[in-house]
Amino acid sequence: MGPSLFHEIIYGPVKSRRLGNSLGINIIPTNEKICSFDCLYCECGWTQEFTSNNFIDSETFKNILENHLKKLQDNNINLDSITFSGNGESTLHPAFLSIVKQTISLRDRYFSNAKVTVLTNGSMLHLSQVREALSIIDQPILKLDSAIHQEFEIINRPMYKINIQTIIENYTNLSFPNKIIQTLLLRGEYNESKIDNTSDESLKALIDAINKINPKLWMLYVIDRPTPANNLEKLTFAEIEQIKTKLQDKVNCEINIYA
Ligand code: SF4
Repeated sequence: MGPSLFHEIIYGPVKSRRLGNSLGINIIPTNEKICSFDCLYCECGWTQEFTSNNFIDSETFKNILENHLKKLQDNNINLDSITFSGNGESTLHPAFLSIVKQTISLRDRYFSNAKVTVLTNGSMLHLSQVREALSIIDQPILKLDSAIHQEFEIINRPMYKINIQTIIENYTNLSFPNKIIQTLLLRGEYNESKIDNTSDESLKALIDAINKINPKLWMLYVIDRPTPANNLEKLTFAEIEQIKTKLQDKVNCEINIYA
C-alpha cells in the first residue's frame, strides 16, 4: 500500500509513537494534499497544491470537533493529545489562529488533561497569527530535517524559495519555552541525489542549529509509513540509539528517539 490521504476532518484516536492516544485534526481539505513542502517521505504522498479555496470554515470545524469530543467522552475514551496534522501543513489555513483557540477551549471543556499539539514545517512563521497560535498550545513540534540548505532542498523540497537558515532563525526567535524540534533521520537516493542526514557533516549542522534554537526537546524519529519516493531506508532502533548517544552531550536539551 502507498501513501494516502486522511479522508476525515477528525480521525482516530490513533496510538502514536510520540504522542500517546492522539486525536488527529485535519484542517486541510479531505480530498487533496496542501503543503508548502513536498517531502520525499510524506505519508500523504506528493504535494498537489500550496494553497486551496476549500479550507473548512472555523464555525463548521468547531461543531464537528465538539460533537466528536462529546462522543469520545460519552464512551470513556482517553486522549493524550489533540494533534493538528493531516493532509499537509495546518498553518496554511487562513483561520489557523481562531481554530487553535476554539480547539483549546473545547479541550479545556471535555479533555482538560489532553495536550494540544501542532506538527508544523515552520514555513509560515513570518505570520504573526501563526506565531501566536504556536505560543498558546502545549506542544509546538517544529520540523528540522537538515540544517544544510542543499540537503533541506533535496529532502523537504519547498514549493517556493525559502532558505533553511530563515526557518532556523524563525525557530530561534520563538520565545516560548516548550519548543520541540523533530528530525526525521533517513538515508537513500532520489533522482540520483544521495540522501543521508545522519552523516557527520549533517549531524554537526543540526547540533549547531539545535543549540541556537534552544528547544525543550529534540525528537529523532524514522520512517514508519509508505513514502512517495522509493529507495528510502528506514534506520534501525540500534542505529538511532547510537546517533542519540553521539549527540546527547553536544546539545543542551533532552533527546527522545522513536523507531
Ligand atoms: S511538511 Fe509534512 S505534510 Fe508537508 S510534505 Fe513534509 S511531511 Fe508532508
